[in-house]
Amino acid sequence: MYYGTLKTYDIADGEGVRVTLFVSGCTNACPGCFQPETWDFHYGQEYTEETEKQILEALDKEYIQGLTLLGGEPFEPANQKELVKLLRKVRRVFPDKDIWSYTGFVYDRDLVKGGKRYTEDTDEMLSYIDVLVDGPFRQELRNISLKFRGSENQRVIDLKKSREAGRVVLYLD
Ligand code: SF4
Repeated sequence: MYYGTLKTYDIADGEGVRVTLFVSGCTNACPGCFQPETWDFHYGQEYTEETEKQILEALDKEYIQGLTLLGGEPFEPANQKELVKLLRKVRRVFPDKDIWSYTGFVYDRDLVKGGKRYTEDTDEMLSYIDVLVDGPFRQELRNISLKFRGSENQRVIDLKKSREAGRVVLYLD
């Protein structure tokens, strides 16, 4: 897996101050995407054990509320394979930090059994995530007043409550 940026003090991509990893590779090709350079699976630098160490060190600060995964596309199958290991570790080492992820796929269509990006890693990866911002960016629905998302079709989903309820429960309306 490759990544473009690792932010260790991010206040834009989730609640509080966060560590954010922008992974590379995306096949969604949303028209108007603000970072098309990240569609390339080899954009940026290689994700290594050293990167994981940097992320864990960055999370180990009292003022950091949690980790956010962004892209590119965290739920491309090749990225899921690597990210599930990172999330497993983050959950174990920092059980009180929260985990957010963005995806251009639709949670209850593409990331469920039979969905186009459902893999053997998907359920485990989702089980570690507290909030999922889902759906492709759609230029015609762009709205700059929305919190944590770019267009009106995108949803900020409370995954824990959704799992308990057996339906999609939003974190923010
Ligand atoms: S999912 Fe995100 S990175 Fe991928 S094309 Fe859409 S806006 Fe761009």
